[in-house]
Amino acid sequence: MTIRVAIAGARGKMGQEAVHTVMKNTDMELVAALDYKEIGATLAETGLFPEGYTVPVFTDLNKLHAQTRPDVLVDLTSPESVYTHTKTALELKIRPVVGTTGFSDEELEELAQLAKDTKVGCIIAPNFAVGAVLMMKFAEQAAKYLPDVEIIEMHHDQKLDAPSGTAMKTAHLISAHRPVHEQGHVREKETLPGARGANYDGMRIHSVRLPGLVAHQQVLLGGKGQLLTVRHDSFNRGSFMSGIVLSINTVMETEELIYGLEHIIR
Ligand code: NAP
Repeated sequence: MTIRVAIAGARGKMGQEAVHTVMKNTDMELVAALDYKEIGATLAETGLFPEGYTVPVFTDLNKLHAQTRPDVLVDLTSPESVYTHTKTALELKIRPVVGTTGFSDEELEELAQLAKDTKVGCIIAPNFAVGAVLMMKFAEQAAKYLPDVEIIEMHHDQKLDAPSGTAMKTAHLISAHRPVHEQGHVREKETLPGARGANYDGMRIHSVRLPGLVAHQQVLLGGKGQLLTVRHDSFNRGSFMSGIVLSINTVMETEELIYGLEHIIR
């Protein structure tokens, strides 16, 4: 069966790569794109894609659904729109595959409940790169033995949310094994606010934003006389595409919300 795919955010850096990936995949058909600006009736008309890309563009998800009946909506948009897109897709029984980051814990819980109630599969992955998932798993394991942890995530300067979804997910995974405790000196004082980074159960998270970067993270685990560094680099957005393809295939076989690629990689 060919999987009918719609992509929200097709004009973006991730979206453009995802459009080409789905177009090339013989088990999938790109049936629509969702935008919020009037950018042309088809992807080709946006001027960003070749002439043969006649996939229709919609600005309303209900209309998109009525006219193109997608099985899956891939969301690569922005933190402001992703919750509404995902909720509406679940209500319309379109399976969301979400790469957009910036969900709150409450939003994730609400969406998980909605997916359960509607029995519509949903995959939300803050990082589609397999190497990044392994980096999180290795850091999670290491934190059992080295529970003093600082995370440094580094991204391009167009990223809207901080800390990154990957850093939040890493901290969340580590917190299952690491007793909550403050790190550093008890009388530590920030002479410049923010110098010690964000505080997640006492773990510190530092967000670097610079032109030239794509997506990078290192987890530093310190012990007496030693330091373990677990690091992953995405040098280009091709690193995320195999995870998107795997998620599109897998979401067709699930009836609940899965958060994180680590639950589906084989
Ligand atoms: P981007 O280049 O800014 O692309 C986002 C695109 O979505 C833009 O074309 C934007 O249009 C469009 N957009 C914004 N609101 C929209 C809406 N309501 N409906 C439809 N389109 C909308 O960003 P990116 O680098 O591709 O990243 C997109 C998202 O994916 C971010 O949240 C990023 O953190 C995340 N990301 C995830 C992974 C992963 O592995 N999960 C990897 C990389 C990035 P305008 O520019 O005109 O506003």
